[in-house]
Amino acid sequence: MAATGTLKENLEKVAPYRAKIAERGVKNFINGRSIPALSNKTFNNHTPIDNSLLCTVAEGDVADVDAAAQAAHDAFPAWAALPAKQRRDLLYRVADLIEAHAEEIALLESIDTGQPIRFMSKAAVRAAANFRFFADRVESANDGLALPAHEHMNYTIRQPIGPVGVITPWNTPFMLSTWKIAPALAAGCTVVHKPAELSPVTAQCLTELMHEAGIPAGVVNLVNGFGETAGKALTEHPLIKAIAFVGETTTGSHIMRQGADTLKRVHFELGGKNPIIVFADADLERALDTAVFMKYSLNGERCTSSSRLLVERTVYDEFTAKLAERVKNLKVGHPLDPNTEIGPLIHQTHWEKVSSYVQIGQEDGATLMAGDGQSPAGLDDGAYITPTFFKDATPTMRIAQEEIFGPFLTAIPFDTDAEALEIANGVNYGLTAYIWTRDVSRAMQMAHKVEAGMVWVNSQNVRHLPTPFGGVKNSGIGRDGGDYSFDFYMETKNISIAFGNHNIPKLGD
Ligand code: NAD
Repeated sequence: MAATGTLKENLEKVAPYRAKIAERGVKNFINGRSIPALSNKTFNNHTPIDNSLLCTVAEGDVADVDAAAQAAHDAFPAWAALPAKQRRDLLYRVADLIEAHAEEIALLESIDTGQPIRFMSKAAVRAAANFRFFADRVESANDGLALPAHEHMNYTIRQPIGPVGVITPWNTPFMLSTWKIAPALAAGCTVVHKPAELSPVTAQCLTELMHEAGIPAGVVNLVNGFGETAGKALTEHPLIKAIAFVGETTTGSHIMRQGADTLKRVHFELGGKNPIIVFADADLERALDTAVFMKYSLNGERCTSSSRLLVERTVYDEFTAKLAERVKNLKVGHPLDPNTEIGPLIHQTHWEKVSSYVQIGQEDGATLMAGDGQSPAGLDDGAYITPTFFKDATPTMRIAQEEIFGPFLTAIPFDTDAEALEIANGVNYGLTAYIWTRDVSRAMQMAHKVEAGMVWVNSQNVRHLPTPFGGVKNSGIGRDGGDYSFDFYMETKNISIAFGNHNIPKLGD
């Protein structure tokens, strides 16, 4: 399986993959061919480990998106018409190839994003699981309902919507891309993928593995480039019927505007400022583990992270003191070191954003319990930052309202259930909520009233692929997971057949 060796071993293992990517660069992939941008333009991609150059990347723009959309359009009829069993077998082959390349994917993802190898080693496994999960559903994707009426038999079927655009962010790009592309392909759609410009490396791996698996030319296309050019062109293209987007809330607004003229169907997975609510009657040890894990895993660059810690006042001091100790103990280091819990942030500009909130929190009067907004000693070559923990924030402070998207946690005390709920709901976001209590009726009351698309009770974020994934308020529009994904990538058609002698009014008789 993927890299679980020592740092030295992992550096040795990644060297040939890195050399290969440096030599080849990241290209676009259109109609079954790996090609440079039509303009021949490229941009540089650096690793956040030490800011050294990883590779050049094709800088696609309107022309490349147009070629890719045309290829996806041309490939659509045959792909949609392919017998379900054949589509299923192809998706299974993709999953097998992903697993066979698990080590390469994990190592490259780690050096491209800065995400610790301890988490990225599972990226390929989860990605393969996504492909297998949707492969198993190919044969039922078209299924609909039987809705008999008095003299008519109505039945519904689902049909793929057409070529779709998939636009993904930089935080866990490989796994996230498969979460969108696998159901689109299973539904019978063709795809143009625009990955994030800050971590484009493994998108190329995925596209090439799909090609190697036998997915026909034009069914999956890859266009690299910047959001404001390549991404925008994709959202505006008339041949693209829907956009599945994961990224920032403000980008979601742009995409909605950009897609208005062509009436794009959109599915948005956006930002979050998710609460973890800890009541005094909870299993406090497990709640503590969850609070630390859900905020500081994946560098805190995680949409579902629990970035606001709401603790009942009677246990607040003890809980936050223990949490501060844990945060101070987190191991920040090279992402390929298996002991590392927090690697470098994606980029220096993101480092500056996360760091700036330390000063903002202090100026607003919260109590800094851990972190200083600086790089840990000896780690100033890359975008490393000491993990931050503030307590005694008030609900309206910026550190309690804004998505920081780094290893940064803000704690707020509460006295009553009603107050906890008011604080939890007092932000613009609504992606996830985590509730810790042993009182079942309180748990259910809170779960029903909290404004979030997904709620975990006495649990960390454990995903079950058939369940709906998505947010409310500024955290998103739509759901994916299980059959919900097919609702997005497919159109439902009703067919009505008369079997009686129903009345047809005669006109002009
Ligand atoms: P981003 O919005 O800056 O970029 C995401 C993608 O959109 C990139 O590929 C980018 O090139 C593209 N893009 C940018 N401007 C565009 C435009 N005008 N038109 C079309 N495409 C455009 O997000 P990011 O900084 O890469 O990722 C971090 C954000 O993603 C955070 O807010 C995080 O919460 C969110 N996220 C959400 C989920 C979720 O499931 N809700 C999951 C992961 C990340």
